Amino acid sequence: MLVVRRWCIGLSVVLAAPAAAQLDNLDEALRTTPITTQELSENFHVLFGVGGNILVSIGANGVLIVDDQFPQMVPKYKATIGSLGGGAVDFAINTHWHFDHADGNQVLGPEGTWLVAQENSRQMMTKNNVINLVTTTREQAAYAETALPVLTYDDRMRFHFNGERIDLLHFGPAHTTGDTAVVFRGHKAVHLGDVFNNAGYPFIDADNGGSLSGIIEFCSKVLAEIDETYTVVPGHGPVTDAEALLEYVAMLTTIRDRMSALIGSGATLEQVAAARPTAEWDERKGDPAGFLNRSYLSLTRERR
Ligand SMILES: [Zn+2]
Repeated sequence: MLVVRRWCIGLSVVLAAPAAAQLDNLDEALRTTPITTQELSENFHVLFGVGGNILVSIGANGVLIVDDQFPQMVPKYKATIGSLGGGAVDFAINTHWHFDHADGNQVLGPEGTWLVAQENSRQMMTKNNVINLVTTTREQAAYAETALPVLTYDDRMRFHFNGERIDLLHFGPAHTTGDTAVVFRGHKAVHLGDVFNNAGYPFIDADNGGSLSGIIEFCSKVLAEIDETYTVVPGHGPVTDAEALLEYVAMLTTIRDRMSALIGSGATLEQVAAARPTAEWDERKGDPAGFLNRSYLSLTRERR
């Protein structure tokens, strides 16, 4: 599991080994990691493998998934969906364009799955990108036409599928510039992609427009859309509840305010890190270095 976690973008803070070794680990993880499942309710499951958590709805209208991991994982989770009573994947919603959530498009798109994403994420998928993970960088090449979303939206989109209303919500730049929260109104569940990381500090793709303040605002607006009974599916880490999302927002707000005060008095990144604005969460969340680096960049950019 550790090998897998090293390759979750949401856990970039634990990236430590040289990039080549991580790529080796990724290949091995993709070969050896099985799909495991968590049933949230009948015909409604979270699938774990390599990459972002997948949410699956199975029913009379067919199969809809949120996020699609890597091409090597597609046959594995299609088999799992089959064993859960589903058929072909009719719709795949990408919470954002990062490879560990959307590379599965390269298999699903050509097979006829309708791919869905926020418009900015589709734009990113049409070009070559570099993701700066602080300790390493990851190049993500443009997708072929067949792997691009065929349905996009700007702020809101709605599905009526398998007996419930499903809202796709975008609230501006956060983890990336094209994040989607997918709210299943009937099941009272939301998938937040990497805007919510429940496995460590969040990664902020600040080189590509991501923003710490944006993550706080995005999560706050999602909280305004749901109630305390909702199940919350993070991009990475265990499934949790609305209270955990509320605590995450409170943590990030406290850290942001501390950093902003330091930055306001002219502190460098090194000085901010030395002041340990994340101190009380580090034991639980891990090394904050990458998170502080990306947060510092986004906060100093906001001041200009
Ligand atoms: Zn991501």
